[in-house]
Amino acid sequence: MKYIGAHVSASGGVANAAIRASEIGATAFALFTKNQRQWRAAPLTDEVITEFKAACEKYGYGPGQILPHDSYLINLGHPVEEALEKSREAFIDELSRCQQLGLTLLNFHPGSHLMQIPVDDCLARIAESINIALAQTEGVTAVIENTAGQGSNLGFAFEHLAAIIDGVEDKSRVGVCIDTCHAFAAGYDLRSEEACEKTFAEFERIVGFKYLRGMHLNDAKSAFGSRVDRHNSLGEGNIGHDAFRWIMQDDRFDGIPLILETINPDIWAEEIAWLKAQQTAESVA
Ligand SMILES: [Zn+2]
Ligand SMILES: [Zn+2]
Repeated sequence: MKYIGAHVSASGGVANAAIRASEIGATAFALFTKNQRQWRAAPLTDEVITEFKAACEKYGYGPGQILPHDSYLINLGHPVEEALEKSREAFIDELSRCQQLGLTLLNFHPGSHLMQIPVDDCLARIAESINIALAQTEGVTAVIENTAGQGSNLGFAFEHLAAIIDGVEDKSRVGVCIDTCHAFAAGYDLRSEEACEKTFAEFERIVGFKYLRGMHLNDAKSAFGSRVDRHNSLGEGNIGHDAFRWIMQDDRFDGIPLILETINPDIWAEEIAWLKAQQTAESVA
């Protein structure tokens, strides 16, 4: 069973995300549980929590079909102690919000060394941040997203994801989300069926499908290996349609949220319908 959706707006309240997802025919969705460009948010009220749970139930979304994304401000590998503290606190708050909403996954970008500490030190900081946050929360898995590797962002190499997982004590509550645009921009080819097989064989060898908790399905405006993060609509970028059809026909991507973060929300319903159809479409070859 494939769960397919998009990162929908939660404006007007988190319950609206479930409503918007159902309107575009989604069987999964992603959302921000607070404004992603601000550090603080008002705590979730019982009313908001109840409304969210009721909407998810009404439209048929279980926790395994929902992939919340944390704030862009958080840097769990921050080289400066004070800033690291601030990020860790905010991350704990994000996990707590998910826990309150009955959600079991939280997707986040690993962190950046800002050219101030070595890569390995930064990866160790990120793992420690996850350990601290998991110890203070319950039931939510920290889902590390691979990045395009823009600037000093880590997580662009599968080895980075593996190193972070290695440093996390509770392996049952850590996972990864692979963003196809980020992977492609980071130098993992997805332009043909063979390229996809090779890239995900490498993923299996270095990280392991047992840690895969979600996917972001995005085509790329950025060039292969450019380390630039620019999403595009499916089939309109440098990756092309084949990768997405290949994913839809591979059962290793079953049972996890497959989320569009493509650039034109007006065609999400079409993109979701197309993805669903690929499950039974003629094979790529
Ligand atoms: Zn992301
Ligand atoms: Zn993404």
